[in-house]
Amino acid sequence: MIPIAKPYLTEEEAQSAYDTILSGWVTQGPKVEEFEKKFCEYTGAKYAAAVSNCTTALHLAVIAAGIKSGDEVICPSMSYIATANCIRYAGAIPVFAEVNPSTYNIDVKHAESLITGRTKAIIIVHQIGMPADIDAFQKLCSKYNLKLIEDAACAIGSSYKGKKIGFHSELVCFSFHPRKVITTGEGGMIATSNEEYLKRIKLLRQHGMSVNDRLRHESSKILFEDHLEIGYNYRMTDFQAAIGIRQLEKLDWIVEERRKIALRYIEELKEIECIRLPVEEEGYFSNYQSFSIYLKENSPVSRNELMQKLLDSGIASKRGIMTAHRETAYKNEYSSVKLPVSENAADNSILIPVYIPMKDDDVNTVISKLKEILN
Ligand SMILES: *Cc1c(COP(=O)(O)O)cnc(C)c1O
Repeated sequence: MIPIAKPYLTEEEAQSAYDTILSGWVTQGPKVEEFEKKFCEYTGAKYAAAVSNCTTALHLAVIAAGIKSGDEVICPSMSYIATANCIRYAGAIPVFAEVNPSTYNIDVKHAESLITGRTKAIIIVHQIGMPADIDAFQKLCSKYNLKLIEDAACAIGSSYKGKKIGFHSELVCFSFHPRKVITTGEGGMIATSNEEYLKRIKLLRQHGMSVNDRLRHESSKILFEDHLEIGYNYRMTDFQAAIGIRQLEKLDWIVEERRKIALRYIEELKEIECIRLPVEEEGYFSNYQSFSIYLKENSPVSRNELMQKLLDSGIASKRGIMTAHRETAYKNEYSSVKLPVSENAADNSILIPVYIPMKDDDVNTVISKLKEILN
């Protein structure tokens, strides 16, 4: 069986976690701080705060951006559902924008058409690792005085116009779930260029506590904490951070290896007439967190038939990126929302295997099976 994805973890990560567990400091402490520092060095972000996952990162980003109950926030429906959920956690209203059919990234013109007097922010998503047009959205947001949040859950190691994702804007949220390019089991990071946001996020991730555990632990004077506002427990543990530090060291190599597989897929599959492949335009550099294939109307098989035929040949695949507005949690409230481009893309695309290390033989098997079924 060829799986769809697999985390790349070695003895080194296991050893780092082991050493950290035995150090006696297991939750947010020196390793988290080191991970944040190295994350900034890697991405070029000014500041970073590690949290328990990307969903909590997004929640804190939404709060830091000042989004409140009743505000509207524009985001793509075609994304993992956490993008929309984080808006709801703050009592605000997700307003769903269309995507560009060739990149699945949020469509700037449609997003602009949805701006009202109640719009406070836009969340862009770098879909399955392909950067969205950050410049266009920065311009749009400054024109209408909106906050911009990047959901970069899948985009660690991707770049936009020569700079790593995490560098560009005030609030960028990452995931270290095993399905992403590097992992800490569960984990997230908020990169920010705004020191006030950083302070607030660091406060909110540990119950709004004025003094952190480590400071109190290391102080030679007695210290009492106050809880300055209603916060959350969104901390990352130190042994997760220790794994993350090792993963970060391998990230450029992992991305390079993933791109070799993706570029082979593109080279070999571009002849197939009934599919559309990912497009990486000038200035865009994807980590290929996933590789998506879109089936055109002239495909000899339906999407589900293709997935079944692949499975019958021992190849795992997944449906393409979902749409939030058609999930049970949203569909009643959003029954009048029609997003034909997103719906069509979600219903007619699949993700095919990309992981490290993937044997050449397995890449060849995927290619030849797809050719056999689709030609
Ligand atoms: C995976 C993912 C998330 C959620 O990340 P977690 O770390 O699992 O909370 C959010 N947004 C997008 C686009 C994702 O792909």
